[in-house]
Amino acid sequence: MAANQNQNQELDAVVVGAGFSGMYMLHKLRDLGYSVRVYEAGEDVGGTWYWNRYPGARCDIESIYYNYTFSEELLNEWTWSSRYAEQPEILRYINFVADRLDLRRDIQFKTKVTAAHYDEANQNWKIQLGDGTNVTAKHFIAAIGCLSASNIPNFNGIDRFKGEMYHTGRWPHEKVDFKGKRVGVIGTGSSGIQAIPIIAEEAGYLTVFQRTPQYSSPTENYVSDPETIRQTRANYKEIRKQMYESMHGVPDGPRDRSALEDSPEERQRIYEEGWGKGGLFSLSYTYNDLGIVEEANKTVAEFIRAKIRKTVQDPEVADKLMPTYYYGTKRPIIDTNYFETYNRKNVSLVDLRAEPIEEITSNGIRTSKGEYLLDTLVFATGFDAMTGPLFKIDIRGKDGVSLKEKWAGGANLKTYLGIATAGFPNLFMITGPQSPSVLSNMMVSIEQHVDWVADCIGYLRENNLEAIEATVPAEEAWSQQCNDIAEMSLAVKTDSWYMGANIEGKPRGFIAFAGGVGLYRQICDDITAKGYEGFSLEASTKALN
Ligand code: FAD
Ligand code: NAP
Repeated sequence: MAANQNQNQELDAVVVGAGFSGMYMLHKLRDLGYSVRVYEAGEDVGGTWYWNRYPGARCDIESIYYNYTFSEELLNEWTWSSRYAEQPEILRYINFVADRLDLRRDIQFKTKVTAAHYDEANQNWKIQLGDGTNVTAKHFIAAIGCLSASNIPNFNGIDRFKGEMYHTGRWPHEKVDFKGKRVGVIGTGSSGIQAIPIIAEEAGYLTVFQRTPQYSSPTENYVSDPETIRQTRANYKEIRKQMYESMHGVPDGPRDRSALEDSPEERQRIYEEGWGKGGLFSLSYTYNDLGIVEEANKTVAEFIRAKIRKTVQDPEVADKLMPTYYYGTKRPIIDTNYFETYNRKNVSLVDLRAEPIEEITSNGIRTSKGEYLLDTLVFATGFDAMTGPLFKIDIRGKDGVSLKEKWAGGANLKTYLGIATAGFPNLFMITGPQSPSVLSNMMVSIEQHVDWVADCIGYLRENNLEAIEATVPAEEAWSQQCNDIAEMSLAVKTDSWYMGANIEGKPRGFIAFAGGVGLYRQICDDITAKGYEGFSLEASTKALN
């Protein structure tokens, strides 16, 4: 769709974002007969997988589970080439879905949504687009991604650098040429750890600037086994049920045993087995208390540190790579040859805790110990997660109150189910803050939210209702419940993006519902069954105006 064709009509829904969430939301609502338009800042569909084209980008949830499950036809028509598909293949899959469901005709690309104001008199949203045009919709659906606002820290002198600069989350479409170049990578989260081994193979010299050493375990990727794919397709209904009822949206879950119940020898055997299998959960599912009991956590942390010591040949470099925070309190990372990369002659590691970055110069990076000369600088510095993309839009609810003002402090982040927030009728957030979202296989969480929102809009239509809004007591109770669950885990003891700690000045607070996707689904279904308990429902008031 080219120009904004919807200026003069009231749409049933405007959806922001054409990643996995926005695409399914469009398909679902359109199928139910609603008028709906999607606005997307990028030039095409894909969201995360459109923007994050850095070398080594791949999923960390097994591909057979990291895809849509709502359509058996889609499932049967697509075959993943490996256990963890790379970004180009995931983007091909997304394009396949967009073509197959003919989604693009209702998506306007290269269009940012800049503002959305609730019009109380007309019970609808006035939405402003980056091209200066406006559109009106009854429902405003933010499918804008949890990790779509890339973060480049405000280093002194950043504009002076004469070389090339890239952020992993805004990677160019053309191949970046590292051949023979002096490359610097800042950041060793999931993105940095995926990119570093590949950049090292091509670069003349690679310097990694690390602030916090990370736990990472092997991906153990392999070519898809046709028999496993056949069985998965044959049993998909049962597998999907297990995913729905699980903790993290994958069919298995933590073993029902404490790490402290086993002898050190038995624990070592169990950890070795998990390590050998590879993948995101093989190690963290070995015991059920690694995320909550300090002594249990220490055992797995020490196991990984021993692996790092064994892999990295230079003991001084190995020392710098030793993680000390509680394992699993940042999203666990899986890698291919990450620690091995530090045995290469063309790679060195700078410990930013010992020598902080003072400035970016025209020729590189100056730390407290000296200047590192660079041709190319890669920021693998993550995202202003969850609230970041929402705050980039001037969202205003009743009485003109902005979402940013409402959520001004960490403790003020208040949502109901992570889907809605009081004072903002007919605003829905797909995988919003205080939902399981980033703690889960996001495909499970996305589909559950989209289905819930579509059902809710259907309920309003069937009952001649115009607006739905979370009540203050309901969101108070939900936010309290989210915080209480988080407080039971070790996650709140670590500075992480889950806690908002990666962004200067961002209020601290745990950002998601940590009770698991199974429990969360039950709660949502229960609320629906009780006629949207905790929400207030409004009939049309338009006649009165
Ligand atoms: P996104 O894919 O982020 O899409 C949101 C879209 O909204 C973007 O295209 C953006 O341009 C657009 N948008 C935002 N604001 C505006 C605006 N104001 N106006 C117009 N458009 C706007 N999750 C997993 O479960 N497993 C994984 O293996 C996994 N790997 C990941 C790897 C990387 C590198 C990253 C960054 C994230 C990963 N995630 C993973 C999380 C991933 O974000 C989700 O799985 C999923 O792709 C999110 O889809 P989405 O549609 O909700 O959001
Ligand atoms: P991230 O986990 O937030 O990592 C950012 C890195 O940059 C960290 O090492 C951080 O250090 C560092 N950093 C940030 N600001 C800095 C500063 N001012 N100075 C020095 N270093 C700084 O971001 P990410 O790696 O992009 O990953 C974000 C999330 O996206 C992941 O947790 C995951 O959910 C998802 N993801 C998934 C995959 C996958 O495997 N499928 C791949 C990429 C991303 P500190 O740790 O000290 O803050």
